[in-house]
Amino acid sequence: MLRVAIDGPGGAGKSTIAKLIADMFSLDYVDTGAMYRAIALKVSRAGLDADDEEALKQLTSSTKLDFDGSRILLDGEDVSDLIRTPEVSMWASKVSQRACVRKLVSDLSSHMAQTKSLVMDGRDIGTNVIKDAEVKVFLSASSIVRAKRRYDQLIQAGKEADLDSIREQIEERDEQDINRDLNPLTQAEDAVYLDTSDMTIDEVVEFISDLINDAEVK
Ligand code: C5P
Repeated sequence: MLRVAIDGPGGAGKSTIAKLIADMFSLDYVDTGAMYRAIALKVSRAGLDADDEEALKQLTSSTKLDFDGSRILLDGEDVSDLIRTPEVSMWASKVSQRACVRKLVSDLSSHMAQTKSLVMDGRDIGTNVIKDAEVKVFLSASSIVRAKRRYDQLIQAGKEADLDSIREQIEERDEQDINRDLNPLTQAEDAVYLDTSDMTIDEVVEFISDLINDAEVK
C-alpha cells in the first residue's frame, strides 16, 4: 500500500500537486476538502445555521457523498462545479468545525484509505485520517503568494477577482482552520514541510516524487 497524505492551508497548491502525483504513480486521488464543501453547500441550501450542531447532525445523518472519478456527488447530484465558490469555501471552513460533519468525512476518508493506495489531500490527513501514511507532506506558502495564485486562476478563467479580498478570505480561513478544537490544521510530526512560495509546480512534484521513491525503497 502506498498512501500519500498532503496537508496544508488553502491555496498552497495541494490539489494541483496531488493530481499530478496521482497520475504519475497511477494512484487514486481523494480531495477531502470537496466533501466538506459539498456538505457546506447542502447546509447553505437548507438555510441552516452552521453552528447548530443538532440540525447538522440530522442533515449529515441523511447525507450521501460519493466520488465518480474526479466528480463529487452529493446525494446523487454532481455538485463539483457548484462547490468552487468563495462563499462555499467560507461555509466549508465553518461547518468543518462541527463534530458530526468531521465524523462523516473522516470515516469515509479513512475507509477509502484502508482499501487502496491513494493520494489524499486536506487539513488533517497526516494527523488524523491516515496517521500511518507511507508519505506525509505539509505544503505551505505565504498568504500573499496563495492569494496571487487564486487571483491568477480566476482571471485566467475569465472571472472577476480582487487580490486584497482574496487574501483576506484566505487569512480568515487559515485562522479558523488552525484554531478550531477538532483536528485543526497542523503539521504532523512525521510530515515533511515544504514552503512552495518560490517553487514551480514541477519542482514541488519532483520533490514529492523523490519522497515517494525513497519510501518505496524502504
Ligand atoms: O481544501 P479546501 O479548500 O477545498 O477545503 C475547504 C475547507 O474544508 C477548509 O477550509 C477546511 O475548513 C475544511 N477541511 C477540513 N479538513 C480537511 C479538508 C478540508 O477541515 N481534511
